[in-house]
Amino acid sequence: MDRLDTEILVAGGGVAGLAATAAFAHAGFDALCVDAEPPVTDAGHARSDLRSTAFLMPAVAFLDRIGLWARLAPHAAPLRVMRLADAGGPEPAVREVADFEAGEIGQDAFGYNLPNWLIRRELVAHLAGTPGARLIAPARVEGIVPRTAAALVRLPGAQARAALVVAADGRDSFVREAVGIAARRWGYGQKALVFTVAHPVPHGDVSTEIHRTGGPLTLVPLPDHDGSPASAVVWMEEGPKAARLLELPEAEFEAALDERACGVLGRLRLTSPRRIWPIVSQVADRLDGPRVALVAEAAHVVPPIGAQGLNMSLRDVAALADLCAGARARGEDPGAPELLARYHRARHAKVLARVAGIDALNRAAMAGWQPFRDARRAGLRALYGVTPLRRAAMRMGLGAR
Ligand SMILES: Cc1cc2nc3c(=O)[nH]c(=O)nc-3n(C[C@H](O)[C@H](O)[C@H](O)COP(=O)(O)OP(=O)(O)OC[C@H]3O[C@@H](n4cnc5c(N)ncnc54)[C@H](O)[C@@H]3O)c2cc1C
Repeated sequence: MDRLDTEILVAGGGVAGLAATAAFAHAGFDALCVDAEPPVTDAGHARSDLRSTAFLMPAVAFLDRIGLWARLAPHAAPLRVMRLADAGGPEPAVREVADFEAGEIGQDAFGYNLPNWLIRRELVAHLAGTPGARLIAPARVEGIVPRTAAALVRLPGAQARAALVVAADGRDSFVREAVGIAARRWGYGQKALVFTVAHPVPHGDVSTEIHRTGGPLTLVPLPDHDGSPASAVVWMEEGPKAARLLELPEAEFEAALDERACGVLGRLRLTSPRRIWPIVSQVADRLDGPRVALVAEAAHVVPPIGAQGLNMSLRDVAALADLCAGARARGEDPGAPELLARYHRARHAKVLARVAGIDALNRAAMAGWQPFRDARRAGLRALYGVTPLRRAAMRMGLGAR
């Protein structure tokens, strides 16, 4: 059996795990990422994850600091306006629009949107050229034994020894369960359909979230598709309705989509297959365990509202990598229990607050009963109409709290 020695072992090479590996390598650590799936190297992988990620400006600043943004920027579409449209009346038509403009809080954009497969391809390429970073994939973390000075991690045909294991292995985290950290999960009876579209009306760098029933339908700008304006779509609905929509023939699906999108970008044309995602919230009881720190979906999952999921994840990564870099500069152990407890204290309360906020927004967005839909419209109008409230909401959405 091969033996591998590393300072940091990152379990999971989704976007969060790859970014964590880059962050630790940038801070001067030996960082080994182990991912169960083959690395993403070309557009063929677009079919496996059709999601896109809107990186909000604090995440962009972090990615820039660790040397990643220059690679991603050429593929990114800016989000300069977040438009909330209420279509909660009896007819499927927009009856209230609130435009939140980045310029109003002194920003050029709220963030930038990129397809997930492309982010993964660029991060894999970045790690290949980064001293101190290694990626082993496909390979699964199969066991972990925390010891006083290090964790022993079992991989197929090899054993790795690491001062710290960063669990970035997703919502069903093996590492989280292996070290006995419980997590609370709850659902909404909702699912999200994810796909991309081309449309005749330019998006104008506006991300549009349309509220009716069952959850929001969100159109997020993408770079042009074969010369046409293009957007990524997340359409949240009650589970059975989402399952029916998934199975509709393409033309019928496009007709249903046009009705739900209220024609805001003209007739929408599918440019990808459709994928379906269950919508859940989840929070781990702790973010630290013996020689283990949880980040990203291993630590928290939220419904895809307001582009928060991966943005929270990068805040975890930044906080953990900074604490560990500080320890290293003082000649201390980056996997010491006190340091990991500091990470837990720095992030857990913030994570709980944000999960609770997104949970409340999702419940409001699901409202089916007409009086609730009218109350939601009144709430949007009140929030939008009061300038300090509107600006505070924008700053909060970016993660300033
Ligand atoms: C529809 C939808 C839209 C979204 N849009 C946005 C958005 O606009 N902005 C935003 O910030 N967030 C968004 N999110 C959230 C974001 O996509 C997720 O937070 C993010 O992709 C999860 O990243 P992750 O790396 O934590 O997990 P994953 O992507 O699940 O990666 C986990 C990785 O761990 C690997 N793994 C699992 N077990 C093991 C093991 N035992 N050993 C080794 N590897 C293992 C898996 O193979 C996988 O590659 C969205 C989510 C959804 C569902």
